[in-house]
Amino acid sequence: DVDAPFGRIADLIALNARQSPDRLALADAQDSIGYAALDALMDRVAAGLQRDGVVHGDAIAICAASSVAYAAVFLGALRAGVAVAPLAPGSTPASLARMMRDADARLLFTDAAAAEVIGAPGEDAITRIALDASAAGQALADWLPPPGTRPFPVDVQPASAFNIIYSSGTTGEPKGIVQGHGMRWAHVQRGARYGYGPDTVTLLSTPLYSNTTLVVFFPTLAFGGCVVLMPKFDAAGYLQIAQARGVTHTMLVPVQYQRLMAHPAFDAHDLSRFQYKFSTSAPFNAALKADVLQRWPGGLIEFYGMTEGGGTVILEAHLHPTKLHTVGQPAPGSDIRLIDEEGREVPPGEAGEVVGHSSGMMTGYHRQPAKTREAEWFAPDGKRFIRTGDIGRFDDEGFLTLFDRKKDMIISGGFNIYPSDLETVLRAHPGVADVAVVGAPSVQWGETPEGYVVRRDGHAVDAAELLAWANAQLGKTQRLARLHFIDELPRSAIGKVLKRELRELNPS
Ligand code: ATP
Ligand code: MG
Repeated sequence: DVDAPFGRIADLIALNARQSPDRLALADAQDSIGYAALDALMDRVAAGLQRDGVVHGDAIAICAASSVAYAAVFLGALRAGVAVAPLAPGSTPASLARMMRDADARLLFTDAAAAEVIGAPGEDAITRIALDASAAGQALADWLPPPGTRPFPVDVQPASAFNIIYSSGTTGEPKGIVQGHGMRWAHVQRGARYGYGPDTVTLLSTPLYSNTTLVVFFPTLAFGGCVVLMPKFDAAGYLQIAQARGVTHTMLVPVQYQRLMAHPAFDAHDLSRFQYKFSTSAPFNAALKADVLQRWPGGLIEFYGMTEGGGTVILEAHLHPTKLHTVGQPAPGSDIRLIDEEGREVPPGEAGEVVGHSSGMMTGYHRQPAKTREAEWFAPDGKRFIRTGDIGRFDDEGFLTLFDRKKDMIISGGFNIYPSDLETVLRAHPGVADVAVVGAPSVQWGETPEGYVVRRDGHAVDAAELLAWANAQLGKTQRLARLHFIDELPRSAIGKVLKRELRELNPS
């Protein structure tokens, strides 16, 4: 909504710098930087881009592990009105090349590890700047204009591109999603509800290329707090930093909560400064939420949404302990509806594909008008919604339960099977640490469900026993054909189970 009151995040950082020049803004294991120094560095980045002819409307790419330098370049580009395409260093070289071309990035900021994945610059390669001392390309310190250099001011508008985020690629090739300054501003405004302020210390261990991280990163800085970046998550390291820095806010994906709650030293850490913990991006099971609520001080907030925008559903878990099986209620300003295969709204109480409208929706997929049209749904009155591809159902109090992605739904002998129903049953067995159910091709039924199970350490349950146990609790049309034990479920870097990889395994 381009008419919404609009503040520029880069300007708020300048304001924080004037009010509290020495207050810490960003820290990682090696570096830290206060607001005045960050603001000056952002000026130099913005001026460096302008010197190189990279201006409002252009894009740069950053492909690196999270660091203070990474964050400062991102923020500096915003000040110049230059969009940032933050890319996942874990992608394949071909996919990275495709994303850089797609974003039309003029410069690439990278670190040694990412530079190795990207490979040697080709002939038409874009200019590379090294965020760390060892990476290929010109060093950041040499590229930056001299200290004190100011950029010429740019009139950034709510509709100006803020970043081009590539979707997680859970269901296929990542899609470039253009988010505007106005859309980011909507996230910052939401931050007022979650106690962000100058005393906030936010620990982020998910990567900066993911919207999951950015929805907490920008509000923290806009409200004058400090972001502590952890480039690679491990439970012991996370707990140590959280205690030592007196962390107040964090974003973690469900698999990280799982690892933290299972860590033997969890309860020995002082986490009493925590105010809010956030989660998003993948199913967060109710028992795990309950465990987090019981053993970890502060509120627990789950977001359900997608990078495309199109609405957010929020569960304030600490306020709704009987609704932990849901993802909560539509956020203020989000209109969330459910539609059937024919694109009609389903009657109340029935399941359907979730579609959402909000003030912060993508304008479309970058350079993919056909994909954009596929993702849109228009209400009879013409209101524009984005399709999520997720199946959900509202209860009579307006809380949304999510089942599965449509693409993961199993159709067996004409019946729809939700893998999540089967996963819930299997997860309740004491021998099951983790589980995913996918459809396998079947001559007789079209598809038939099979489960991939990670056995709990030290538990001896075998496949036949577990299969019989689960099937005894399932409906006739839901029964699992097979179970396979697996050491670990395949997950994306942001912790989503990659069901397409499981389907490709298909060892049966
Ligand atoms: P791609 O679109 O490339 O396949 P992706 O959909 O995983 O990747 P994102 O935009 O990062 O990319 O993720 C949005 C999706 O993540 C949602 O459509 C939903 O399936 C899932 N998701 C997000 N939040 C939650 C949540 N709280 N609970 C369950 N699933 C969630
Ligand atoms: Mg998606």
